Amino acid sequence: MPLLVMKFGGTSVADLDRIRNAAAKVKAEVARGYDVIVIVSAMSGKTNELVGWVNETSPLYDAREYDAVVSSGENVTAGLMALTLQEMDVPARSWQGWQVPIQTTSAHGAARFVDIPRANLDAKFAEGFKVAVIAGFQGVSPEGRITTLGRGGSDTTAVAFAAAFGAERCDIYTDVDGIYTTDPRITSKARKLDKISFEEMLELASLGAKVLQTRSVELAMRYKVRLRVLSSFDDTDEQSGTLVCDEDEIMESKVVSGVAYSREEAKLTLVTVEDRPGIAAAIFGPLADSGVNVDMIVQNISEKAQDSDKPVTDMTFSCPVDQVARARQALEAARDAGHINYGTLEVDEDAAKVSVVGIGMRSHAGVAARMFKALAADGVNIKVIATSEIKISVLIDRKYMELAVQALHDAFELDKAG
Ligand code: ADP
Ligand code: ASP
Ligand code: MG
Repeated sequence: MPLLVMKFGGTSVADLDRIRNAAAKVKAEVARGYDVIVIVSAMSGKTNELVGWVNETSPLYDAREYDAVVSSGENVTAGLMALTLQEMDVPARSWQGWQVPIQTTSAHGAARFVDIPRANLDAKFAEGFKVAVIAGFQGVSPEGRITTLGRGGSDTTAVAFAAAFGAERCDIYTDVDGIYTTDPRITSKARKLDKISFEEMLELASLGAKVLQTRSVELAMRYKVRLRVLSSFDDTDEQSGTLVCDEDEIMESKVVSGVAYSREEAKLTLVTVEDRPGIAAAIFGPLADSGVNVDMIVQNISEKAQDSDKPVTDMTFSCPVDQVARARQALEAARDAGHINYGTLEVDEDAAKVSVVGIGMRSHAGVAARMFKALAADGVNIKVIATSEIKISVLIDRKYMELAVQALHDAFELDKAG
């Protein structure tokens, strides 16, 4: 039997009517002759509520219990989806991660797949079950504890199942009808793309475009999964949505193909750290060990300390706002242990990151200049800049984030097909 993976995100299963709507889409694919693996998210808002409860109970929580709590939202929708399908005369059953079993690493809160053995699901399909409903976002560690894959992780569950079961396609049903040049919530000029390359989507996702979890794009690229994003609210067919695919399947040739943003960023500066070999390792080692995801880094020019001959410098980096407390704790512990020495730690919690992405940048000069000019024209001050082969990112004041996205979308004429 040909097999499809269909994933429904939080808004697509937000209440019983929406679950019925999603189930009808599954039933339609079964009628076309497919076996279907359905991956469901928690009802919208549920995971946030669960995370909130954990934080309120225990601010520096035990990550194993965090996973026990936050994985539960998906269990509810998986059961409800299976029941809804049964009511529609579609033979279905639900599976929690451990029942499959979806084997992951024990990195709680950010676990990675190790293996998805096929035997249990294959046996059910052989019995005549047409649909397996899988609770997304979760798995089980080698120690037998429940794990979760990081926010947005149901996308990754979907792609991993598509790869493991050789699915014809992995369809990600969500609340937008495809992948746009930027988040359509930020500008109405955002344009839907028919196709986008794995490389560009990978960058956009890792720079904040939450329409797909970064790891899901990585897996799709590695295992050559045909990955599609489409709306769960529209009538859809095989041409609907946006296909994420290899670069050579794409005709469009814009230098920049998308703008991404990440709203909750913080900028931290260690003022007057000693400038000596090993200082960067002494600072960023403890941050990494504490689970702080350091993103951009700038080391300022060195100067002599006021009261000695030793050179000192300022070290600036960015990380997600909700990791500032962890970062501060790690740096203070390193200072107390005598591993680093610094004057003050300045924290700016009102930053956001805006990035432009495009594989055309590999062969075109002048993208950075055009980007900076557009931001300058709108009076947006840049705090930190980072570049790679196919992206340029800037850290700016959060209050200018929407304005910056719109300005860059206009400057690179993303509303026009290229
Ligand atoms: P789900 O709950 O279905 O997983 P998400 O909220 O995780 O949905 O992702 C869909 C959202 O991603 C959209 O509502 C949109 O606001 C946002 N988004 C960000 N960047 C883009 C983009 N480039 N194209 C489409 N949607 C985007
Ligand atoms: N429910 C989880 C989250 O909100 C996983 C997902 O929806 O992909 O992050
Ligand atoms: Mg999502």
